[in-house]
Amino acid sequence: MNSVRQSAPQLQGLVPYDPKYLPARAYLSANENPRDVETEIRQKIISAIRKVPLNRYPDPLANDLRDMIAEANGLDRDQVLLGNGGDELLFNIALAWGGPGRKFLNLPPTFSVYAANARLTGTEVIDVPRLVDYSIDEETVLERVGQGDIDYVIVASPNNPTGKLANEEFLAKLLDATDALVLVDEAYFEFSRTTMRPYLAMHKNLLILRTFSKAFSLAGVRMGYILGNAEVIREFLKVRQPYSVDAVSQAIAREVFSERQKFEHGIMAIISERDRLLEELGKVPGITVYPSDSNYILFKLEGADKVWEALYARGILVRDFSHAPMLENCLRVSVGTEKENDEFLAALREIVANK
Ligand code: PMP
Repeated sequence: MNSVRQSAPQLQGLVPYDPKYLPARAYLSANENPRDVETEIRQKIISAIRKVPLNRYPDPLANDLRDMIAEANGLDRDQVLLGNGGDELLFNIALAWGGPGRKFLNLPPTFSVYAANARLTGTEVIDVPRLVDYSIDEETVLERVGQGDIDYVIVASPNNPTGKLANEEFLAKLLDATDALVLVDEAYFEFSRTTMRPYLAMHKNLLILRTFSKAFSLAGVRMGYILGNAEVIREFLKVRQPYSVDAVSQAIAREVFSERQKFEHGIMAIISERDRLLEELGKVPGITVYPSDSNYILFKLEGADKVWEALYARGILVRDFSHAPMLENCLRVSVGTEKENDEFLAALREIVANK
């Protein structure tokens, strides 16, 4: 066989993103909604899909969906852009605002995709690590952006995997302190019930990311969106794949978005289960629990990798961060159904008691 030359230099040393999705009885590792879309809405989805012409390219910008999302957020169509999951839009920000000679300000530990996209696009990553309790080192961030060389910043709020919202006052200061594009990643906004959206009116450099994957039970469909200034959105149009959001996904998302009130009950159930899990985890000896505004909880304990294995042996899949930088001995559990959470708690109590 002949040989092939090496891939691009920025790929050397990168490892493919691995969500470690293994077969399990209780999937508590990917922050999904534990309940699938309910039957009535599923029926509507099926009828909508029947009408989708499969031989035609989709509306490249998903304008119907854009209009629905714009209206719900008091914005115009040109302030909204859909993507193939939030992930695509996270890649697009690196393409549009990053690149060789440009700088991305990252607040680790956070969603690892941000830094990976920066590296992939030859963007320099400037880290301002979080404090020991995983809150943002606000003073250092403001001082660092004050130097004037940062091109974009991403603040996950709530932060994944650590769980807490960023302070609104800090975000407001950050928007004023820099002309860098500030992406506030609100993938878990429906659980935190807190948004920076009102700031869009006055801040051209604010961009907000949301997703259908979590609260709206559509992780399998791949649909995310950004809200921002029309001029910023126009730059994203230059880098996006024209047909990244397919016609079937558009049809599904339209049905789900128009029925979004019906998800409220499930969202409230997740919030109350989260609070119960926080309380119960707090009672397990030897565990440090980090507070959460989201649908997952980070916790720390000695020998976390062994605990992960023991949980998995009992059919319970949580996310292992125990060897990730700044997250030593940490595991993250997604809030499941009441039954799944009970099983998780019982298994964890037993594993800790027998350590
Ligand atoms: N942002 C954060 C903080 C996330 O945790 C995720 C999902 N893991 C995403 C964005 C992207 O979600 P999706 O691509 O499913 O929309």
